[in-house]
Amino acid sequence: PYDVLIVGGGPAGAAAAVYAARKGIRVGIAAERFGGQLNDTMSIENYISVLETNGPKLAADLEAQVQHYGVEIMAMQRASKIVSAEQTGGMTEVHLENGGVLKAKSVILSTGARWRNVNVPGEAEYKNKGVAYCPHCDGPLFKGKRVSVIGGGNSGVEAAIDLAGIVEHVTLIEFADQLKADAVLVNKLKSLPNVTIHANAQTTEITGESGKVNGLSYKDRATDVVHHIELEGVFVQIGLVPNTEFLKGTLELSKFGEIVVDAKGHTSMPGVFAAGDCTTVPYKQIIIAAGEGAKAALSAFDHLIRN
Ligand code: FAD
Repeated sequence: PYDVLIVGGGPAGAAAAVYAARKGIRVGIAAERFGGQLNDTMSIENYISVLETNGPKLAADLEAQVQHYGVEIMAMQRASKIVSAEQTGGMTEVHLENGGVLKAKSVILSTGARWRNVNVPGEAEYKNKGVAYCPHCDGPLFKGKRVSVIGGGNSGVEAAIDLAGIVEHVTLIEFADQLKADAVLVNKLKSLPNVTIHANAQTTEITGESGKVNGLSYKDRATDVVHHIELEGVFVQIGLVPNTEFLKGTLELSKFGEIVVDAKGHTSMPGVFAAGDCTTVPYKQIIIAAGEGAKAALSAFDHLIRN
């Protein structure tokens, strides 16, 4: 059995593995895809002390550091269930989709999240070539250009306000007949001179040329007329979904499916901790996920020495 078993090998899981292994205890990490969302990321310019890197390189660096400390990496393993220890200090079980069962004195869940796609022609083709999901990450790449934000909830409207300060023009597209974001955000957005809002509008296609986004088509749902806008970037902001479906009914999740954690990364299940994009901790970023992973590992170690 493991002293600490980590489920998920993104920045949160990798940081947890390094911090736990440096305590000289037995650490394992089971991950479907080591590196997590980093594998889908091109340029990373906001990881402190690293001026610029790319996702696959950062993922490889994380894996090398985890291996350096002798952590047992179980790649391409998907967890399907967690079973709580019967008594305090007992073994928690993590069941894998391949039928295997891993046992550990403490578990750290760091299964991350995924951006919801709009599923229109052009989205997959131009991902990272003008189609983006994270304004904090990719906003500066569109400085002085024209972009669109798809989604008029809080995250979409916040993204549009944020981007309006960087880019030349922002067009916000919302499917419903009005924006669902908080009124204070909607009022702020409407006060900006370089923002156009289209409600009751269905995105039908993201268009491109020579491997780059050059526009977006949407259908006015009142008239069924299709319009085309010329622009260089599209930010899809219709939700970030935590990878926590396999935990339903076992530990406390928020209404968005995020694992509820306290300030030390404890979940509602004793001996089980969580970190990164799969949790209620706000602002889904690499540096935040890594910091939370380190914190969860220290909390898990604290749990081990007390039990
Ligand atoms: P993830 O990176 O999502 O990793 C989750 C891990 O869990 C993976 O190993 C996955 O395979 C595994 N997993 C999931 N379910 C299971 C299961 N059931 N069993 C076993 N393993 C499982 N952030 C920045 O700070 N700067 C940027 O420039 C930036 N750019 C981005 C660009 C894109 C296109 C995207 C999608 C995200 C970007 N982000 C950026 C956000 C950043 O990637 C995430 O905040 C960060 O990766 C979260 O780390 P994590 O470890 O919590 O989760």
